[in-house]
Amino acid sequence: MERPFAITLDVGSSRANKTGSWRTERPVYVHNLPPCSGACPAGEDVQQWLYDAEEGGGGYERAWRGIMDDNPFPAVMGRVCYHPCETKCNRAQLDEAVGINSVERFLGDEAIAKGWKVEVTAPPSGKRVLVVGAGPSGLSAAYHLVRLGHGVTVYDAGPQAGGMMRFGIPTYRLPRNVLDTEIQRILDLGVDVELNRPVTSVLDEMRAGVFDAVFLAVGAHLGKRAYIPAGSAAKVLDAVSLLRSMESEERPRLGRRVVVYGGGNTAIDAARTARRLGAEEAIIVYRRTRDRMPAHDFEVEEALEEGVLMKWLSTIKHVDHGKLIVERMELDETGFPQPTGELEELDADALVLALGQETDLSLVEGVPGLEVEDGVVSVDSRMMTGCTGIFAGGDMVPAERTVTVAVGHGRQAARNIDAWLRNIDPVSPPDRAPSDFEHLNSWYYTDAPRSVQPQLELARRQSTFDEVVGGLEGSTALYEARRCLSCGNCFSCDNCYGVCPDNAVIKLGGREEPYAFDYDYCKGCGICAAECPCGAIEMVPEEI
Ligand SMILES: Cc1cc2nc3c(=O)[nH]c(=O)nc-3n(C[C@H](O)[C@H](O)[C@H](O)COP(=O)(O)OP(=O)(O)OC[C@H]3O[C@@H](n4cnc5c(N)ncnc54)[C@H](O)[C@@H]3O)c2cc1C
Ligand code: SF4
Ligand code: SF4
Ligand code: SF4
Repeated sequence: MERPFAITLDVGSSRANKTGSWRTERPVYVHNLPPCSGACPAGEDVQQWLYDAEEGGGGYERAWRGIMDDNPFPAVMGRVCYHPCETKCNRAQLDEAVGINSVERFLGDEAIAKGWKVEVTAPPSGKRVLVVGAGPSGLSAAYHLVRLGHGVTVYDAGPQAGGMMRFGIPTYRLPRNVLDTEIQRILDLGVDVELNRPVTSVLDEMRAGVFDAVFLAVGAHLGKRAYIPAGSAAKVLDAVSLLRSMESEERPRLGRRVVVYGGGNTAIDAARTARRLGAEEAIIVYRRTRDRMPAHDFEVEEALEEGVLMKWLSTIKHVDHGKLIVERMELDETGFPQPTGELEELDADALVLALGQETDLSLVEGVPGLEVEDGVVSVDSRMMTGCTGIFAGGDMVPAERTVTVAVGHGRQAARNIDAWLRNIDPVSPPDRAPSDFEHLNSWYYTDAPRSVQPQLELARRQSTFDEVVGGLEGSTALYEARRCLSCGNCFSCDNCYGVCPDNAVIKLGGREEPYAFDYDYCKGCGICAAECPCGAIEMVPEEI
């Protein structure tokens, strides 16, 4: 018997029968908020710039420009940001988080190598804003304000711009040529910076300069002191002063045995710096245990590799003539350290106190309405202080003290200052539903182990201030960007186009909206939504 010809339907040939009227639900393409983007304190749309970077070539510049819309320091971020984006990354539940920070560094370095610039396109507003402090927060605010068309003047008390990025973070973590280039790019936009220009009264400066608004970002520079009785011969200094002096001509002399007192990142930087300055022993004394140290674990690890020693559960009682008296502590049931009365001696040529920093708020004394609580200035959701027209951000307001938070405050303040000056509502980001791991079809993604950044060899880490962590090279950065699962946003895999039994998915080919549904033909079966790897399609009830 002759077999019948198999019936085949070309794509689109079944479209004579409109099927859409049966539907109770319809699929829609969504742009949900991936956890990485939600977690970036600088407000970067991480998933979007990773998507651009995945293209390589021209995509890198687009990705960099995407970052620059929110954050003028991609190369700095790629070195010093503690990357909360990675902590939240959905890929961590599959194997390991995407190396977002290392890709950001790659893009920042590409921009420096290729000399990419940004421009001011907004027309001049005629308004003038004073920024006090040229640290990350002040510079970020200045960058956004100038791009929004305002005239910006920055006053900084120090001899160079950068704040703690220059006078705190050591060069082995942030080379100064990288910092200088990213700062210069901001200044080239027309930001006017006056250095060695301490502000003692913000109200006087506002009046004298006839500024329309002020952004305060003076940081926290006063090292906290513990009361430790010290003999006259004792060499006691604070960590921030030590790190600041690294930027001067003469290197500080600390001696062979250096004790650093404290448990934060500054203590780690002080001890690692002491090692590089030639200290044979650099010991961190901390009153609790390692797991309770505020310093980040990877920094503790790097310090230990370099030979920094740790003395846990200890406080310093007295210091004199090359000797410290240390008391052993015990944690009580609440985890609080309690003295035991057991004392021991520790040899030390210098004691470095790294017990945190406070803000010098003398410049805001007498400002009407401005409130200070626990040593920091209160601000509202617009970053405005209690005094109309005076905004503040960074380390001087209540928040986590990081470069990224400071940069984010600068951006947020700039947008609100702009709105306030123009008497309009600030543009708020669109409300996006979160895109959690449960929204992904993880089996569609292949295994791809995270790439590792190279590290300087140990001998050079212990004796030089050369950069410790190296950047990814081009092909590895591309691979790392492609590890992104594109949570909650279409990445043009064609799955929905291929699985739809009714050919109701139309390929538009654009980047913003690559597909559309033809609802005349969609019967609402939901296969596309079920088979989308990244949760970029949702079924919504049909309006009757
Ligand atoms: C040793 C150390 C290491 C750190 N490492 C990291 C890290 O790796 N990653 C990270 O994210 N964060 C790190 N931080 C924290 C981070 O540096 C700060 O949170 C951040 O710099 C705060 O930014 P800011 O703009 O608020 O203030 P700052 O960076 O402190 O800048 C304030 C600026 O204001 C100026 N100023 C102060 N008073 C006046 C005045 N009266 N008039 C005019 N100008 C004034 C200062 O000269 C300074 O330039 C580190 C901090 C330290 C101390
Ligand atoms: S700035 Fe930090 S948190 Fe934001 S994307 Fe970069 S690494 Fe992540
Ligand atoms: S996989 Fe990509 S989009 Fe998803 S959280 Fe991680 S970086 Fe963001
Ligand atoms: S299935 Fe693929 S093409 Fe369709 S929406 Fe999801 S990611 Fe985009």
